[in-house]
Amino acid sequence: MIRFLTILFLSGCFLRIFAVEKPDIIENRVSFGHKVIGKRTPDAIIIHSVYNASGGNEYDIPLIINQFKKYNVSAHYLIDRNGLIYRLVADMNVAYHAGKSSLPDGSTNLNSRSIGIELVTNLQDSISSAQTQTLTQLVKYLQSVYTVKFILRHSDIAPGRKTDPWNFNWKGFLVGLKSVDE
Ligand SMILES: [Zn+2]
Repeated sequence: MIRFLTILFLSGCFLRIFAVEKPDIIENRVSFGHKVIGKRTPDAIIIHSVYNASGGNEYDIPLIINQFKKYNVSAHYLIDRNGLIYRLVADMNVAYHAGKSSLPDGSTNLNSRSIGIELVTNLQDSISSAQTQTLTQLVKYLQSVYTVKFILRHSDIAPGRKTDPWNFNWKGFLVGLKSVDE
């Protein structure tokens, strides 16, 4: 009996360590800013930040999505100030979020191989802890689904042209990504 309970306990620990919890995602698909591919294997994750600069509430999700529509751009995911995740484009499709960009290895055309995640913030506020928490959960989940080789900021792949994500503790985020428990 004790041996059975020990095995049960150990398998529970095992599952706890290796199971990656799928985050809650609000489906909010858009009809613009992407190209339908249907199948692909992304190996890069690009983190951005965005706010509504067209007047009104800077953090209003419909207004931010309207802004994307105006420029025919979109990321796959958008994380609001409270840490809620919206999916705008399916992973299997190419979203227009990176623009002219390149990886440290010299490769270009990053939209085709990457998943884009937008964090909602203006230029003054910091990324909230709720946002960092769900971003970490989402990236860990994507790492469990795909072989992710690169996790980069927009400013890493388009230096001199892009500065986002703004006011984000990038090093802290990368450390949190490696930790087993959150
Ligand atoms: Zn960006």
